[in-house]
Amino acid sequence: MLSIAHGSTGAFIASKIPNPLISIPLVLASHYAEDRVPHWDVGQGLTSWKKSRKIAFMQELFIDFPLSIALVFFIFQLGHPFNWHVWMGWFVGLFPDFLEFPYLFMDLRFTPIKQLAAFHSWVHRSTPNKLWGLLPQFLVILLVMLLK
Ligand SMILES: [Zn+2]
Repeated sequence: MLSIAHGSTGAFIASKIPNPLISIPLVLASHYAEDRVPHWDVGQGLTSWKKSRKIAFMQELFIDFPLSIALVFFIFQLGHPFNWHVWMGWFVGLFPDFLEFPYLFMDLRFTPIKQLAAFHSWVHRSTPNKLWGLLPQFLVILLVMLLK
């Protein structure tokens, strides 16, 4: 999913479960569970070479990634004191995608990056249909906003 969905889910879980020994594995599991839902993200079309890596990288760097920070701030931190659980959850929520970055964008394909990327793509389900691919992510963010 997009960073806006993973980041807000991670922040949500970590804000509800203060023990990092419990929240970190749950946030990591949430990343892969969300990626299992057929979705659209900036990497859509990368593996089939329909989209250039440069465009995907730019969309991630200048749209999705900063929006995930802004959204987590808006949902959890606006008007509240700094909460490190929220930002740790955001970071861990995005961590599997950070790990895949060198594999996808820099052609660094060594152990364990290679195996992690293989696991990630084995779990990953995507759809080129933007409406159906964005809807589950919209619902995830809506649920986080309602339940936070
Ligand atoms: Zn992912």
